[in-house]
Amino acid sequence: MRDPSVSRYSAGRLSPIRRTADLRRLRDEQFDVLVIGGGVTGAGAAVDAASRGLKVALVEARDFAAGTSSRSSKLIHGGLRYLEQLELHLVHEALTERGLLATRIAPHLVRPVPILVPLPASNPAQRVWQRGYYGLGVAAYDAFAGVFGGGRGMPLHRHLSRDGARHIFPSLRADKIAGAIRYYDGQMDDARLVVNLARTAAAQGAAVVTSARVTGFLREAREVVGVRVKDLEAPGSEEFEVRARTVVAATGVWSDDMSQMLHDVGVRPGFQVRASKGVHLVVPRSAITGEAGLILRTATSVLFVLPWGGHWIIGTTDTDWQLDRSHPAASARDISYLLDQVNTVLDRPLTTDDIEGVYAGLRPLLSGEADSTSKLSREHAVVEPMLGLMLVAGGKYTTYRVMAADVIDRAVRRLGGPFRESRTDQLPLLGADGYAAAWRDRQDTARRHGVTTGVVEHLLERYGTLTVHLLAMMAADPELAVPLDGAPEYLAVEVAYAALAEGALHLDDVLTRRTRISIETAHRGSASAEHAARVMGRVLDWDDTVRTREVEHYLARVTAERESQTMPDDRTADAARVGAPDVRGLASDRRSDPSDRRSGSGDRRSGSGDRREGAGDRGSDLGDRHPDSDPPGDRSSDLLEIDL
Ligand SMILES: Cc1cc2nc3c(=O)[nH]c(=O)nc-3n(C[C@H](O)[C@H](O)[C@H](O)COP(=O)(O)OP(=O)(O)OC[C@H]3O[C@@H](n4cnc5c(N)ncnc54)[C@H](O)[C@@H]3O)c2cc1C
Repeated sequence: MRDPSVSRYSAGRLSPIRRTADLRRLRDEQFDVLVIGGGVTGAGAAVDAASRGLKVALVEARDFAAGTSSRSSKLIHGGLRYLEQLELHLVHEALTERGLLATRIAPHLVRPVPILVPLPASNPAQRVWQRGYYGLGVAAYDAFAGVFGGGRGMPLHRHLSRDGARHIFPSLRADKIAGAIRYYDGQMDDARLVVNLARTAAAQGAAVVTSARVTGFLREAREVVGVRVKDLEAPGSEEFEVRARTVVAATGVWSDDMSQMLHDVGVRPGFQVRASKGVHLVVPRSAITGEAGLILRTATSVLFVLPWGGHWIIGTTDTDWQLDRSHPAASARDISYLLDQVNTVLDRPLTTDDIEGVYAGLRPLLSGEADSTSKLSREHAVVEPMLGLMLVAGGKYTTYRVMAADVIDRAVRRLGGPFRESRTDQLPLLGADGYAAAWRDRQDTARRHGVTTGVVEHLLERYGTLTVHLLAMMAADPELAVPLDGAPEYLAVEVAYAALAEGALHLDDVLTRRTRISIETAHRGSASAEHAARVMGRVLDWDDTVRTREVEHYLARVTAERESQTMPDDRTADAARVGAPDVRGLASDRRSDPSDRRSGSGDRRSGSGDRREGAGDRGSDLGDRHPDSDPPGDRSSDLLEIDL
């Protein structure tokens, strides 16, 4: 539980000093719940448990959202296509969550995005049928949200003629459409929402530590009583034990590794998780003229074209992946598939020259132990393969809160005692309190702080009411008020704040997840790396050697990613990508399940992709280049005396 004498904001500040203190807590205390995995599911579970009054720890091997949770389509959605499949309970659940997130839990991070469903040009009879069919679906979607959605938080849908659709989306080819229906879903910055969840958990008293990899379970008889943790920021240090009465593994596509750690006692996990790769392209807003997103049907699934600030996000693919899970690579084949799909409806075809960024993520799809790939489900599951250990996986980003409540309900049943029911539906995340008023007053705020309204809007949409802290930092240090080199839509203060309060430990954390510079600029962050490293280094006490190493790591990663995206298939793209070592010194991240070794790659399109242990090894341990033990100092006090 949080010390009530400390403000919620201070308690949720993930500074370097806080990391050191939380590492000490991991060694010294016994927790009610220890959560493994700082993606949306794990961070959500930590918030749920901590807000029920439980003593909670959250450990993440790399950075918050470094896995799938920073690589999604960034929609908080009911899933229009689940409606078509008549999976009404899933639609209902997701629309309820969408309403809660947009109106109460994270209104600063979740906003309505208009999306057009184009109606294909066809003969008059088909046109009537299609408009009726899609119209009914979208109307049902709105009705579900209205009736069940916990405060819809989204405008209603509207039918558009062909001219109406092209007015909103002039780049749509006139000969391809008969009209469109416009509906709304929620859009968010997935990585920022996870950081916000982790900070909210910290504000509720949870010990929250990144770069902390679980390497095994502590067991007494047939019961799990904790975990062994390796601090990846101190590679020369010993692993240490963390005691917990229940352990929750929310490790997404790494879930099977958890059961593998209990292999010797013959534990059956209850489910297996398959990884399905989804690739997105990012192109500049000027490449397509439109004021709304598009949802297009493909042969096997759907393709989104979504407005994203000054950019468009186009995705996604859906292919099996059994290669490196930490750094899934997009191949030239993935990229040309996406371009081909989107170009079917655009009047000016996109080419590879239009692409600013590319990212790939892995869907954690559940399969029962004997199920075939075709039966993979997007629903989540909670299992307790061994006393004291719960696995939660599957689902989707939108329903993280439901997954979190389910797994913590189960933990609470095991713990017994007078713990409350989940109340996260009533709990605004940090920065959400007072957001509507802050948005209303943004011009006054800008005037008071001597910045443009655009700056205040940019900050409000990323930090909510915590914006006042960034404005205060800018006022105290004018060097923080300048735009970042190579990415002028971001300010230097955002880099400093990421290190000071948002748990960023490496340049990659800032350029890839606290900001989205790595996918939003044609240079992919290379031109911002030096400046960002200087600003970060001031907070984290980096000397020249560390700063140079951070920049080199980042540039090597960009080079490897670019190279991988010119490779013809998954196997060659993966080989190019793993050439750049992980800045946290993680070793190769292939599955440890021997059955995978037999099956080879599952890239259905390429039919290639055997596992190459050698290539993985190249991307292995750079640990000896890290500073060995001393945690970075906390220069926040030198930088600024502000109670964050
Ligand atoms: C291409 C794509 C598009 C998507 N689009 C959407 C969308 O628009 N809307 C939506 O609702 N959903 C979407 N999803 C689904 C959604 O992104 C995922 O369901 C969700 O992010 C999974 O979160 P997670 O926390 O379960 O897993 P992850 O985010 O992968 O988190 C697992 C974490 O566990 C950590 N970990 C693993 N092993 C260890 C260990 N030994 N010790 C410590 N930590 C460990 C990892 O580092 C990782 O950070 C999409 C998914 C993909 C791939």
